[in-house]
Amino acid sequence: MSAAAGWFAPRLIAWQREAGRHDLPWQGTRDAYRIWLSEIMLQQTRVATVIPYYQRFLARFPDVRALAGADSDEVLALWSGLGYYSRARLLHRCAQRIVAAHGGVFPREPGALEQLPGIGPSTAAAIAVFAHGQRAAILDGNVKRVLCRFLGVIEDPARRSVMLRLLESANELLPEQDLERYTQGLMDLGALVCTPRRPTCAACPLAPRCQALATGDPERLPLRAARRALPERRVTLLVLCRGSEVLLEKRPPAGVWGGLWSLPESTLDEADGLAREVRARFGAAPRTLEALAPLRHVFTHFRLLAFPWRVRLAGTGGGALVAAEEPARRWFRRCDLEAAGLPAPVRRLLGELSRRADDAPQPGA
Ligand code: SF4
Repeated sequence: MSAAAGWFAPRLIAWQREAGRHDLPWQGTRDAYRIWLSEIMLQQTRVATVIPYYQRFLARFPDVRALAGADSDEVLALWSGLGYYSRARLLHRCAQRIVAAHGGVFPREPGALEQLPGIGPSTAAAIAVFAHGQRAAILDGNVKRVLCRFLGVIEDPARRSVMLRLLESANELLPEQDLERYTQGLMDLGALVCTPRRPTCAACPLAPRCQALATGDPERLPLRAARRALPERRVTLLVLCRGSEVLLEKRPPAGVWGGLWSLPESTLDEADGLAREVRARFGAAPRTLEALAPLRHVFTHFRLLAFPWRVRLAGTGGGALVAAEEPARRWFRRCDLEAAGLPAPVRRLLGELSRRADDAPQPGA
């Protein structure tokens, strides 16, 4: 054990025992399924947000076989609102792979776990530690921040060479025992004390030897590459209403909101053109078109500015809307939207519309 590990790990372990988190729903288990599920949900997402999703997911899919056998629509519906939907798609694929290739049992070794869809090195290490007590180093965003500050790393940890050095340090700092508490301690310290803004160094067990604190400006680390302004993408969304139903389209499996049910899109932005497009694409004449308040949503790589138009259709008889009845299109009753996998901004918009008094079913519609 290195001298740094001899100092670092015992302090962190003692601090976790005293001040760390002990009652998170995914703690106190060796069930790799539960640990894996929590790790995937926690990527780029706060604990408080994850907890209700985790509980709903477990109630519906109590083990990896239940998840593997689920319909992808239902998986996405339960994930709806957590964002980063590729995680849900990979989660589902991973469950299916574990059942098909591993008899429903998670591999023990981090290297084997990393071969599974959606499991990166840090997640693999966390599963190996918490499910099997293995000696493996996690290196997620929180841990990178703690190590950059403690070790005084003044280069961008997004660079591969820097990341590899951090991984080497993370491995050197690992204790011989109490790996679970040590790993939880690193996670807790990054989440509760060594936070991105205003770290509470006075409460930190690592403060006596922290190099970033010694500079007097710990928040300066880790170094972040200058952020480029995100490009803006504009789109028109069509809220096609047939009585109390709304038409949704299933998005392609990959890409933004992949596999979710969303509103049909258009590149047009004025009423006459949209009316013509609705007739051509959906085989029905709009009775009214109403521009709604724009929606904004920030993705990792761009900002979305969406202009929704509510389109009330003239009627449903006489073969109207035949073109709408395609496998990737479906009329949803409002009461069915709750169980559908919708992007969070679309869910909010439809929820808002259904609350509006003038959104009641129209006579004769
Ligand atoms: S002393 Fe401050 S900057 Fe250093 S590891 Fe602790 S909380 Fe982070």
